Amino acid sequence: MAPSSYQAPKRGDKAEKVTYSQTTESNLSHTQTTVSKLLEGKGDAVFSVRPTETIREVVGLLKEKHIGALVVTDQNGALMGILSERDIVRRMAETPGQTLPQSVEDLMTRNVQTCSPDDYLMDILSRMTEGRFRHMPVLKDGNLCGMITIGDVVHFRLKELEYEALRMKQMIVG
Ligand code: AMP
Repeated sequence: MAPSSYQAPKRGDKAEKVTYSQTTESNLSHTQTTVSKLLEGKGDAVFSVRPTETIREVVGLLKEKHIGALVVTDQNGALMGILSERDIVRRMAETPGQTLPQSVEDLMTRNVQTCSPDDYLMDILSRMTEGRFRHMPVLKDGNLCGMITIGDVVHFRLKELEYEALRMKQMIVG
């Protein structure tokens, strides 16, 4: 006779017993997380500079705000470009000792890739990886409404994975 703790499988068991890791929810949830979900936790702050400001002002802002890039906007707040620490380091190598007085518009990237709050985080991660940049301004109806970094996306995904692992442990332990 089988030990009392052992329950022989019965007809119909297979259909009912689907583990958490096999559910549609767990397999698809992370691919469907949107930019707006990340911004809910991060907030909508976007630090910007005007094109005529100098790199001296930019490095001060980057240090003060603990960030790696600024968006460049015109007098109406419209996006004109993006300037990251990489642009500054590159220019410092090209013009040693003469970089700080240069203007933002001379260093910024004009062709800015943006995303919308409804975009999926995993798509943004792919775009950043393929384009080799780490910042993505978020636009809603043409207006800046946030900035996400590759670090934000990776951190968010790690939190999701921790939560999924916890859920699975709970399912096992009961
Ligand atoms: P990053 O890795 O974000 O520090 O930027 C690397 C390079 O890509 C720099 O030349 C930036 O000006 C540029 N860059 C950063 N973000 C973007 C973006 N969203 N679209 C286009 N270029 C960008």
